[in-house]
Amino acid sequence: MLAAVSAQPHLDRCPGLLRPHRAEDGALVRLRLPGGRIAVSALREVLEAAAADGAGRLQLTSRGNLQVRALPDPLPDRFVERIEATGLLPSTSHERVRNIVASPLAPDLAPLVAALDAGLVADPVLAALSGRFLFALADASGSVLTEPYDVAWQSTGGGDGMLLAAGRGVAVPRERAVPALLGLARDFLVCRGSASVWNVRDLPADAPLGAGMAAYAPRVAPPIVPGPVGDDLVAGVPLGVLTSAHVEAMAALADTVVVTPWRSVVVPGAAAAADDLAAAGLVTHRDSPWSQLSACIGAPACAHGRCSTTSIAADVAGTGRHLPRDLRIHLVGCERQCGARPDDVVVVAPADADEVLATVAELSR
Ligand code: SF4
Repeated sequence: MLAAVSAQPHLDRCPGLLRPHRAEDGALVRLRLPGGRIAVSALREVLEAAAADGAGRLQLTSRGNLQVRALPDPLPDRFVERIEATGLLPSTSHERVRNIVASPLAPDLAPLVAALDAGLVADPVLAALSGRFLFALADASGSVLTEPYDVAWQSTGGGDGMLLAAGRGVAVPRERAVPALLGLARDFLVCRGSASVWNVRDLPADAPLGAGMAAYAPRVAPPIVPGPVGDDLVAGVPLGVLTSAHVEAMAALADTVVVTPWRSVVVPGAAAAADDLAAAGLVTHRDSPWSQLSACIGAPACAHGRCSTTSIAADVAGTGRHLPRDLRIHLVGCERQCGARPDDVVVVAPADADEVLATVAELSR
């Protein structure tokens, strides 16, 4: 049996199942999904466990992981055991460092994700990585390279690819991608000097990371938006809160889905069933305001929140006003700006929906 520790302050506060975060609404746990891939049956089990022991609120994170909040603190053993039984905790020592994003519409990357995850948890040294250290595996389009990765490998076609870190790159073929990424992560641990240095971007410019790498700008694609992509469907999840209705609608269509870093889920083969997913409350077309609108948890669940971000976001969506197509708007309750992506328009502690819309109108002039 695994025992969860009580939520305690730690230097690196990224939560896990075995190290919950204490929020105003209770304990919060994060479950890593390398590459975002998860069986719908496991999603259902997590949701049911959350409902049994908490508020039943299951969220998608900006790294394509799952988060369950409003749980009792300390976590009941039965909750931890139930989650462990889903297979979502393959390593107790490395649970918080299994942060791997991958292009969600590139199933050919799945074997690399699995190999990277296996190599990561097999190396005791890499358990020292921060919970904020992010690996990325990208297709040739550069999907997910918008995310703040530390080390990445991008396919450039065929078996070729580029190893990427700190604005530099070097050619590395696909069969060497996983050992090269793991090697860079080990090099980072040697270079960083202090355990309080969590990311490659925090290293000094002259840090000897990535011998042989040269300045390189990879091809980067914007986040995918809700709607059909071939036979598949990208389904947006309003505010990233996954409900039982969402999960049951997906279960009728697919065994496995892919959680993206953009509060959406790729449902394979579901393009023709978009209406069913929409009826369950998922967003199936990019014209919905929810395809451009997100929010941190805000007040009252977060002690730092100065406004109820989620209800203001719902008010904005409820106005039916079209948001300028190129803008992604993220509401936050304080200057910490949790969940904001680099190209988001971040609105801090708005008084109401009118203030959000006025800010957006001003920006789009
Ligand atoms: S941005 Fe502020 S209010 Fe929102 S979740 Fe983070 S700390 Fe809380």
